[in-house]
Amino acid sequence: MKITARIPSIKEITVDVPSNITVAELKRILCERLKIEQDLTKLLANGIPLQENQKVSKIKLKSKKLEIDYLWSRQLILWGEDGQAKLGKSNVLIAGAGAIGNEAAKNLAMLGIRNFTIIDYDKVEVSNLSRMVFFDKSDAGKPKSKVLAKKLHNKYPHMEITAIQGKLENLPLKVYLDSDIIVSGLDNFASRFFLTSISRRYLIPLVDGGIAGYQCRVQSYVPPNDPCPICPIAREQYGNLVGLRNPCDAPIEEAKTPSLPTTISLVSSIQTHEVTKILLGYKNYLQTEKWPETTGQPMQGIWIADLKYNKYSLLNLVKNKNCMVCGEHGEARNTVERIDIPIKKFFSSDLRERYLRDIFPESDEFFFFKMSKGKPIRINNDKILKKDLGKGDYLLVTLKRKGEYIEAIIRLK
Ligand SMILES: [Zn+2]
Repeated sequence: MKITARIPSIKEITVDVPSNITVAELKRILCERLKIEQDLTKLLANGIPLQENQKVSKIKLKSKKLEIDYLWSRQLILWGEDGQAKLGKSNVLIAGAGAIGNEAAKNLAMLGIRNFTIIDYDKVEVSNLSRMVFFDKSDAGKPKSKVLAKKLHNKYPHMEITAIQGKLENLPLKVYLDSDIIVSGLDNFASRFFLTSISRRYLIPLVDGGIAGYQCRVQSYVPPNDPCPICPIAREQYGNLVGLRNPCDAPIEEAKTPSLPTTISLVSSIQTHEVTKILLGYKNYLQTEKWPETTGQPMQGIWIADLKYNKYSLLNLVKNKNCMVCGEHGEARNTVERIDIPIKKFFSSDLRERYLRDIFPESDEFFFFKMSKGKPIRINNDKILKKDLGKGDYLLVTLKRKGEYIEAIIRLK
């Protein structure tokens, strides 16, 4: 029998199926054709959800069309199934599971991003509950990252979430390299500096947000050419900023940042929308230097708001050649190229050298290192053990080109 089903305002399809199949089987066929997830979809007839074990032949239809009720159908109108699938496969690193982390995680989960790594060193306090939607009084004293991951997973069981209680500086490099983007809501300058360095060095886009009472700001950083989040800060200020929670505040032990749920949700809404734009358009941007018209371009400069005086502005930002991260002498002045090498080619020394010379012409020496407990360990070329390395593993490579040593990252695929 022929059955027509539609996702309203998006598309309709007709399938020819045996009349003795169940609604569950019909749903599987429709979802496979539409490339959408079965577990997040229901079939409706005449506006009412169908029982999954019901026989398709028993459905009585007034309009002769079934309706497909899919979790992200309203977004498909904007960026289609391919865009939604791209979001679904993306890995987002959420740096800070505090107020911004809670709100950002909620928004990103609702947008359909399915893979999070959440890192925070802090524990839940009762005073957090005024702004952190996933925490309860009974969570006081528990690690923020773990509580946030657990609560998110309860609400969105289809998600893959890794929670880490610790400091950004101690995170294995692999976690960063596996991330498509970093969203940060950090309360101290040193961590923001570190994260910006990582973002630039390894070319991982970063969307940073912060609040101080009635004021809030967001900056999208697409490395390596954008002005980075440290560019606006003069070198002389750096000494004063290290150890301070907020650039305008007193030292950490003396003051807490004033914080409101209103500024938090405003900032994280804008941040997460920026994340969406970058995830959907970044590959296109790398190839063509253009952002897709359907989803738009990430913001240029810093967006700032002051809710007390109703002031909203986008500040122009220029690259600072003396920047401590991306400037001429900055910590991350050199970026690290990232390449994928098929694992078979890597294990044959002839193929490996040829492959690398194609990618890095005029290079004559290659040294390989693997990361072990945060430290690079040299691998003797002849002793690369197959049992030690697998698909998805990263290796650091140092190569000599025109007398200079250059770093790159290899991912085995
Ligand atoms: Zn900079």
